[in-house]
Amino acid sequence: MGYEINQVIESAIAGKNAKDIIEKVIDDVKARNKGEEEFHQTVEEVLRSLEPVLVKHPEYIKESILNRIVEPERQVMFRVPWVDDNGDVQVNRGFRVQFNSAIGPYKGGLRFHPSVNLSIIKFLGFEQIFKNSLTSLPIGGGKGGSDFDPKGKSDREIMRFCQSFMTELYRHIGQDVDVPAGDIGVGAREIGYLFGQYKRIRNAYEGGVLTGKGLTYGGSLARKEATGFGLIYFTNEMLNYHKHSFEGKRVVVSGSGNVAIYAAEKATSFGATVIAMCDSAGYIVDENGVDLELVKQIKEVERKRIKEYVARKEGAQYFEGQKGIWSVKCDVALPCATQNDISIEEAKLLVENGVIAVGEGANMPCTNEAVDYFLEKGILVAPAKAANAGGVATSALEMSQNSMRLSWTFEEVEEKLKGIMVNIFAISKDAAEEYGNEGNYVVGANIAGFLKVADAMMSQGII
Ligand code: NDP
Repeated sequence: MGYEINQVIESAIAGKNAKDIIEKVIDDVKARNKGEEEFHQTVEEVLRSLEPVLVKHPEYIKESILNRIVEPERQVMFRVPWVDDNGDVQVNRGFRVQFNSAIGPYKGGLRFHPSVNLSIIKFLGFEQIFKNSLTSLPIGGGKGGSDFDPKGKSDREIMRFCQSFMTELYRHIGQDVDVPAGDIGVGAREIGYLFGQYKRIRNAYEGGVLTGKGLTYGGSLARKEATGFGLIYFTNEMLNYHKHSFEGKRVVVSGSGNVAIYAAEKATSFGATVIAMCDSAGYIVDENGVDLELVKQIKEVERKRIKEYVARKEGAQYFEGQKGIWSVKCDVALPCATQNDISIEEAKLLVENGVIAVGEGANMPCTNEAVDYFLEKGILVAPAKAANAGGVATSALEMSQNSMRLSWTFEEVEEKLKGIMVNIFAISKDAAEEYGNEGNYVVGANIAGFLKVADAMMSQGII
């Protein structure tokens, strides 16, 4: 009884203080991580959604869970020197941020793109904590990468870069420590070179140290398709719950990389028509439905610009500039390229044109202002942390297969992926309802992802 009364008093105090405490942590993050705008953006988005959790669980305040969760457990930055095809020495910067290992080894992709800096890696690593928790699998949060630009590089240059990158990274990772995978600019080719160098240095075949591997050496069937397919499974659950479906819908997908292609493919198989896709230079519009085999040929095989599409497909149009894609009228928008792709201007345009749902395939593809605007207008939002978790979930399935030294069929993996995505929608929906935000899956996913990590941190003491 005494305990219960204490709880009530504590909750009342927390109710008054939760908001102030959250704002104080956000201010501290901004002061201690100056100029890291993307990191600030995600911290603000996640922390502000946790207010009802802190009111209900004042013990998280007492144990400073928020102050601890915003500080990476470890961050590594390193020099990556390599020799280009002209014999000249090039120097890039490598990163690995090991954010949180409360529920499992750090897990998260590597991004190779000239825009990569510490802020981008920290924002991605922070999001990864909650995403990985939502999968219900035992994986912690991390992320890494380099400001290396793979565009226009020869295969040999890519190989030399990957070998140099791994020559430093290997000492920080391991199948029970930290398990990287792909992201923007890192696909099967790069993972192959990275794995080869890791194996050579370690003199051991530790298959589970990287995921997204080729099928001949420990990769999982359906990993390549998993993020895009998972996005559609999640978005489909959300649409169905609100009495909609993909059938007959006009869909616009930004990007034409790994996530975009397989999201477009699954949406098409659910009866939607994908009208437009893009790359970083411009976008194509094909009112007859984008021919995805042609996009794969151009982007995956030939590694060329999406502009090529119009030369090979009658009736299709090409427009310069990437963001213009959001002026194309659609029912469902699937941003699958990169962060902050949809800001308030694009959000207004989409709403004006009648969009009913937005499914985030990329990480943080909508600004916080854009998300708030969608929710205010009653647009369904499938948030990235939940909706694109299928990739990392299938990476964890790849780790399981590596540990068991067996492999599942495509259908077996896809069935597990589907089950995971359906469950993520259910727990995000339930958390949103329980904490007074029914229909807000952005808040629901943050809360559901946070609770498991926070409880694990509580159990493990102040570390
Ligand atoms: P890819 O490198 O395969 O594709 C990225 C696509 O986005 C390319 O078509 C690229 O165009 C386009 N793009 C447009 N604008 C930009 C820009 N400013 N910066 C970078 N790319 C741009 O990456 P993925 O498909 O793997 O990743 C896309 C998004 O999904 C990222 O946010 C990533 O973090 C997220 N994600 C990926 C997962 C995965 O399993 N791969 C898992 C979960 C999330 P261009 O061809 O001109 O470069």
